[in-house]
Amino acid sequence: SSGYRNSVALPRYVRVNTLKTSVEKVIEHFQSEGYMLEEPIKNLNNLSPKTIRKDFHLSDLLILPPDTDLHNHILYLSGDIILQDKASCFPSYVCSPSINSYVIDACAAPGNKTSHLSAIMKNSGKIWAFDLDKKRLKLLEKLTQKAGCKNIEAVHGSFLDVDPLDKKYSKVEYILLDPSCSGSGIVNRLDRLLDSSEQKTYQSDSNQKSQERLKNLSEFQVKIILHAFKFPLAKKIVYSTCSIHSQENEQVVKEVLQQNNDFILANRNDVIPTWNRRGISSEFDDNEEADKLIRTLPEDFTNGFFVACFIRKLNYMENAT
Ligand code: SAM
Repeated sequence: SSGYRNSVALPRYVRVNTLKTSVEKVIEHFQSEGYMLEEPIKNLNNLSPKTIRKDFHLSDLLILPPDTDLHNHILYLSGDIILQDKASCFPSYVCSPSINSYVIDACAAPGNKTSHLSAIMKNSGKIWAFDLDKKRLKLLEKLTQKAGCKNIEAVHGSFLDVDPLDKKYSKVEYILLDPSCSGSGIVNRLDRLLDSSEQKTYQSDSNQKSQERLKNLSEFQVKIILHAFKFPLAKKIVYSTCSIHSQENEQVVKEVLQQNNDFILANRNDVIPTWNRRGISSEFDDNEEADKLIRTLPEDFTNGFFVACFIRKLNYMENAT
């Protein structure tokens, strides 16, 4: 099992903070430190030391070899780069709020996805960043300030207590939902999965406690999505987890699709179509639904992750008149 453990050492992903710098400038900086620029590739096994390359799927993401420690690097300290795993860059990228739009990041702290949204919006419009945890929200304020974000208002509290009909949010078109989850997709925890002593706690279906925890989490996740669906002008809602359990992923999606008439899944074309690993099709009657979802696993050189993108259904009666 130690072989598997070695094979899940993830590359060092670097998200370029386009509010402060550009991909080209960051590459030049690393080149001046002796890094070699190489071509983008999909197989990221055996990256040579001191090499840098663009990511195959995301334009603002760079890839360095695993174990590259950048925590004291000048570009990290200045906020020019953000150390963020690849899969966790997907939600904001899929959301892609337009310039000057109004956005809610419902479970935002510590704010890596918030600052990514802010960069995509080029610091225009407005993002309300909610979090239940005051300490984590303080960290969000600190990190988004460091990143040069100027369009974020951090709000302490539960997103579930926010009134969707409050005038303040009447122009909100995009909502990012990255709620608490089991975290079962995080590689360190996957490593622990392989540890026989912990295997039972996390993997066994008969383990009542973990099943109950998953049930509670998925009920909360369904609730938070249905709440987001109530914002009158919302047109795009992106849901993500760092879980590999279908109870928190496909099954949550299925449940909210059943419980509402306004939102459907966005087509694969709008959800990183070049990414090959999609939702688990056996969870749906219709194969195409699973195809609209994104899954990632450590074998994709990133953490286990899930992304769903809901869009408001067009009312054909409205269009007809
Ligand atoms: N999006 C964050 C990022 O990319 O940096 C990570 C979010 S983390 C997976 C989930 C967050 O949801 C936690 O910070 C937790 O405090 C927050 N949370 C849990 N329940 C919440 C609720 N009802 N309203 C708002 N935030 C909540």
